[in-house]
Amino acid sequence: MDNLWLDLLNSDYHDHRGRGRSEDRLENQKWLASFLARWDLPHREVQAEDTRKALQGLRSLLLRIMTSLRAGERPRAKDIDVLNGHLSAAPLFRCVERDEGGFKVSLRAVESGLPAALAEIAGSFAEVLADGDPNRIKLCDNPDCRWVFYDQSKSRTRRWCDGGSCGNLLKVRRFRERKTRRAAEQPHSNDADSAGGEA
Ligand SMILES: [Zn+2]
Repeated sequence: MDNLWLDLLNSDYHDHRGRGRSEDRLENQKWLASFLARWDLPHREVQAEDTRKALQGLRSLLLRIMTSLRAGERPRAKDIDVLNGHLSAAPLFRCVERDEGGFKVSLRAVESGLPAALAEIAGSFAEVLADGDPNRIKLCDNPDCRWVFYDQSKSRTRRWCDGGSCGNLLKVRRFRERKTRRAAEQPHSNDADSAGGEA
């Protein structure tokens, strides 16, 4: 996992084997705490109801924008306004810090709190819209999985989420389907064999 916005989108988890097991990980306080900590977000109130609700709202917003882009449409102006609303809710300042033998300038939130955390997530998504290639934002081809990823392959043809399990699962399913179809197409193969005569 290398993108904050992807981590939020994939908090809506679906079992890739299609066994109906799905989980909104934002409802899971342990997961939520580790999400806020691993991205060093300036807000750690996992028990507050509005933390979960605000993150779910932002996730729905990103999903709507992503769905428009995947359909080859422009995202709704209202959705971009809401995204901008999150960005403007938390002012940033430049900060110089040491970095592998040199220095780098980074942006830090002026205040901590929920709006600052939402702004960071919104900012990571805004960056991919502006500097990345929105066409590379994809959903795993396994309809049971729906994992969102950013296709960094040279050919832009990646179809599955990480780990290969979905690709393998669908290959096995297709193999079984073909086998069943072949068996159904040749229901009298034994008769044909026996009619073959003296061969
Ligand atoms: Zn998948």
